[in-house]
Amino acid sequence: MSEEQREGGCLCGQVRYKVAWPPLQVMTCQCTHCQKQSGSAISVIAMVRKADLELTGELTSYTDAGDSGNALERQFCGQCGSPLISVILAMDAQGMTFIKAGTLDDTSGLAPTVHLWTQSAQDWMILPEAGAKVPRQ
Ligand SMILES: [Zn+2]
Ligand SMILES: [Zn+2]
Repeated sequence: MSEEQREGGCLCGQVRYKVAWPPLQVMTCQCTHCQKQSGSAISVIAMVRKADLELTGELTSYTDAGDSGNALERQFCGQCGSPLISVILAMDAQGMTFIKAGTLDDTSGLAPTVHLWTQSAQDWMILPEAGAKVPRQ
């Protein structure tokens, strides 16, 4: 684990985590499934090594085929419903996992470099100039 860490957790505090900082990559996802799960326009996700993530508390899991057809497990707090982790099975095999970055206690300096599923972005959404745009996956 690298020395710099950030902490985060769900709304009710039942699930807490510590993660090495900075993450490998920060992305947004505008897919319809992320919109449903978050109840929001986008999800902001940070890719981290599983080995760099320490979780406490109990996660509930929903297996989702994903807009892309890639299997993923959406893990959330069963008590307050906050989405916390997306386990994309193909990436999990490579030791990577994805944190819903809005659950960090300190969200400063998050700078997404990739915007996924821009074709299903809500029509008022204005994406920043910076960062790759991927219409679909
Ligand atoms: Zn909770
Ligand atoms: Zn998504």
